Amino acid sequence: MEKIKGRHTPLRRSLWIVGTYLLVGWLWITFSDYLAQRWFPDPETLSRVQTYKGALFVLVTALVLFLSLLRQFISDRTLLSLNVHQQEEIRELNQFRESVIERANVWINVLDSKGRVVLWNKAAEDISGYPREEVMDSDDIWQWLYPDEEDRARIRERADEILRDEGEVVGYETWITTRDGHERQLSWNSRSLRNNAGEIAGSIAIGQDITDIRNAENTLRWRERQLSTIMDNLPGMAYRCRYDEFWTMLSVSNGCLELTGYEPDELVNNSLVSYAELIDEAGNETILRTVESAIGNAEPFSIEYSITRKDGRKIWVWERGRGVEGEGELVLEGIVLDISDRKELEEELSELATRDSLTGVLNRREMTRILEEEIARAKRYDRELALLWIDFDHFKAINDDHGHAAGDSVLKAASGLLAESVRSVDSVGRFGGEEFVILLPEMDRREALETAERLRRLVCDTPQPLGHGNTVTMTISIGVSVFPDHGEGADALCAAADRAMYQAKADGRNQVVLAPLTEEAHNP
Ligand code: GH3
Ligand code: MG
Ligand code: MG
Repeated sequence: MEKIKGRHTPLRRSLWIVGTYLLVGWLWITFSDYLAQRWFPDPETLSRVQTYKGALFVLVTALVLFLSLLRQFISDRTLLSLNVHQQEEIRELNQFRESVIERANVWINVLDSKGRVVLWNKAAEDISGYPREEVMDSDDIWQWLYPDEEDRARIRERADEILRDEGEVVGYETWITTRDGHERQLSWNSRSLRNNAGEIAGSIAIGQDITDIRNAENTLRWRERQLSTIMDNLPGMAYRCRYDEFWTMLSVSNGCLELTGYEPDELVNNSLVSYAELIDEAGNETILRTVESAIGNAEPFSIEYSITRKDGRKIWVWERGRGVEGEGELVLEGIVLDISDRKELEEELSELATRDSLTGVLNRREMTRILEEEIARAKRYDRELALLWIDFDHFKAINDDHGHAAGDSVLKAASGLLAESVRSVDSVGRFGGEEFVILLPEMDRREALETAERLRRLVCDTPQPLGHGNTVTMTISIGVSVFPDHGEGADALCAAADRAMYQAKADGRNQVVLAPLTEEAHNP
């Protein structure tokens, strides 16, 4: 529309100007002649006026013609210089476009309608290894990039679709074989190009080398899978939590369920329960102190404490973690392991270290330790404490008559009998052979003698098993000493009780003897 209107306007304008000129000229000639004849009747004057009038008309029309020509020439010159300027700009733009294409770090190539290369930029050379001279004006490149026939046919079919202008291709991925035989992965964007006549003249393809990106992605994916496999198979719970009073879990591994009995969802963000609620108050305080000092020293921490599982069972756990800066806040990352088995084993070992292996009562070392502890306590609180020294009578005869195993059986049964016949605060220990010691905290002489007598009778009245269903009656002799009457130290008390026991033997065995008292003890 614009074009048609533009083509017709000058003609119409020219006709209009000429028409106006004819009209004005005709009017001028008609009216000026008429007026001149009326105003100047004298023929001589009229003839002069006619001459001036003619000259004036020529002058005015010459002036109008001059002005219009001048205007035309000025506008022509402006148009001309504009045109030159535009051409310069177009040339610069083309140069810029070429240099951008050339320097782009993506592969750019243009193919003609037959699939022959007509443009091959630097990145295409670098990625493929094929220099421009080798690929231009031929379609050999197809075979070189895609040596596999099936592959090539499939990719060419896609390229032909573009040449038939069936849409554009975005993110189409192919593997190419480079000049030196390597494989690289490219992601293509491609569309058709049209010539001035509007026909499809070829296609442009922009390829991005995504080999490294894909490799990195694959490595990352593989690492993530590996990490989650490790996390989910860890013998405990890996976690990431806030450094707050609830130990708010941000994420936990699947091991959470086995460790705590709670599903990860129930613990994360304290949705059902906070991790702090699984730990008792003292435990929480210890953890807080440990974590605080570890963070202060920029060190990892490890700590043991017990938690209560969802099923109410208490278990011992070991936690190792550290503070890390994550998304603008300090968070803790680490792992929590169930160490209940280890704790049990430790307890068993410490039992083993403190117990006599044959009888299960305390061994001499543990008994001595407790004795010293109890003496210190008795001193501190100004209390009494009694010690019974027990020796089996004629024990040798048991071994001689029934064998060593029978002797062992009697020792086990008799010591068990003693242990279960005293208070829970009392301690029963084996000092060696068939000698036993019983410690009776907060007992005076009288109570101690009563207890000793009760035990003596009990042993005497209880047949002891020899094995194979046989039993034997055993008797014991007991020496009694009391803190502080018979001494203020463990050695003195033991020696006094031992001596009293020998006195009981000397007096005929199967009896209780109190260690002799000093004058001072008699009359405190
Ligand atoms: P008494 O004390 O009444 O004077 O006579 P006794 O025969 O008990 O003599 P003594 O206390 O001196 O001897 C202890 C005997 O106990 C010696 C040893 O054969 C026996 N004996 C010590 N330890 C064990 C043990 O672990 N198992 C067995 N079967 N016998 C032991
Ligand atoms: Mg003995
Ligand atoms: Mg004996």
